[in-house]
Amino acid sequence: MFGRAPKKSDNTKYYEILGVPKNASQDDLKKAYRKAAIKNHPDKGGDPEKFKELAQAYEVLSDPEKREVYDQYGEDALKEGMGAGGGGHDPFDIFQSFFGGGGSSRGRRQRRGEDVIHPLKVSLEDLYNGTSKKLSLSRNKICAKCKGKGSKSGASMKCPGCQGSGMKVSIRHLGPSMIQQMQHPCNECKGTGETINDKDRCPQCKGEKVVQEKKVLEVHVEKGMQNGQRITFPGEADEAPDTITGDIVFVLQQKEHPKFKRKGDDLFYEHTLSLMEALCGFQFIFTHLDGRQLLIKSHPGEVVKPDQFKAINDEGMPMYQRPFMKGKLYIHFTVEFPDSLKPEQCKALEAVLPRSSAQLTDMELDECEETTLHDVNIEEEMRRKQAQQSQEAYDEDEDMHGGAQRVQCAQQ
Ligand SMILES: [Zn+2]
Ligand SMILES: [Zn+2]
Repeated sequence: MFGRAPKKSDNTKYYEILGVPKNASQDDLKKAYRKAAIKNHPDKGGDPEKFKELAQAYEVLSDPEKREVYDQYGEDALKEGMGAGGGGHDPFDIFQSFFGGGGSSRGRRQRRGEDVIHPLKVSLEDLYNGTSKKLSLSRNKICAKCKGKGSKSGASMKCPGCQGSGMKVSIRHLGPSMIQQMQHPCNECKGTGETINDKDRCPQCKGEKVVQEKKVLEVHVEKGMQNGQRITFPGEADEAPDTITGDIVFVLQQKEHPKFKRKGDDLFYEHTLSLMEALCGFQFIFTHLDGRQLLIKSHPGEVVKPDQFKAINDEGMPMYQRPFMKGKLYIHFTVEFPDSLKPEQCKALEAVLPRSSAQLTDMELDECEETTLHDVNIEEEMRRKQAQQSQEAYDEDEDMHGGAQRVQCAQQ
């Protein structure tokens, strides 16, 4: 390969595949390859061709000698140099070397099993008081009889479908002189690369290597936990041979409470007062989330206005992992006004309540026009008006477009 004229064109492709600059360090290369390999791994639904390209690019660039040849002479020079005995690595072997598969045989790789996520409905009372819930789940467990081998003898044979590689290559004809090679996990052995002789199958798991197990998990919901908080049971998901078992994760979902709303460590509670209570004072019994009865009352002479908030310290939610600390309990007051009053009731009120506007004189009244006040549903009316406005805006827009088109037509 020496003595060739250096080719400039094809010694950047590998760097582009890995997305690194030409002066990337070994460390950069490794990081870039690792990231891309995880993303494009066929096990995760990645494109096998792209994965192969990545592996090839990394194989060359991670070897200082090969990298130098590539940098000077490009891809073709390498192909000549590698020859038949040169040992192009199986992409999976390289992938394997990153994740320390523990020297397992070619084609077998230690992967991490999926996490299993379950929503867990809880009440606000559960989050206030803490609780534990027992949940029965079924999962795959490595067969104890064959220790996950699937066979009585512990032996397995190379899968005839893929010669033990776990992958199959199919060829698609795209045209008279064009073919596309596709690599995908072997369907006969589900990508494991091995099969078990019918007579040798483990009677317990029928060669499946795993058995179903019912398991009861006790989930401890601690005081102050939040909606959306995760409670993890490490390594309790489905077991599979050569796989690091994933976790079972419960995600708390707080059910709506009819009376309380929660915001962080604070609680919000709605309470309606009569006008009389708002003006002259109130007291009521409040039942908390743990069943305690609290007496809530106004200060003497105090008037509560509609939509006013008041708060009680340390009666909110307990704080997670510091349950003796609590947030605030906010009370939002609504005041219910009477629909009408009788003339004698007005007289009685006039005697005690201050009148804010001054009395009008006969002269002033004579100069005014009379009006009539109607009852309205303001939200309904506003909604209707908005709909009408947007329709008008749309019509106007249409008009403008139409006009512009007419002008264009006229110019042609
Ligand atoms: Zn078994
Ligand atoms: Zn196979």
